[in-house]
Amino acid sequence: MSDEPKVVRTVGKYTIKVIQSKCIAAASCVAISPDIFKLNEANLVEIIDGGVDDEDNILLAAQSCPTGAIEVYEGASRVWPPGEDL
Ligand code: SF4
Repeated sequence: MSDEPKVVRTVGKYTIKVIQSKCIAAASCVAISPDIFKLNEANLVEIIDGGVDDEDNILLAAQSCPTGAIEVYEGASRVWPPGEDL
């Protein structure tokens, strides 16, 4: 298994991308969606491989991040945070 942090994953209709350099370990994403997000030993967000959660809840977790460190895409369209598409 790779030691690379898991920072991109597709769950259902959403592709989730975490920007570790923006993560300040507030952990609200982990509190809302603990099967998808975790903090690693360095206190940086990672995506859990194989974990499942409701798509709406994943979006809620992304929206809870105070620094916008979690991006959510549906196809080429960025759902969160509002901004550029892929
Ligand atoms: S909510 Fe944002 S800042 Fe907090 S742990 Fe998750 S990604 Fe990091």
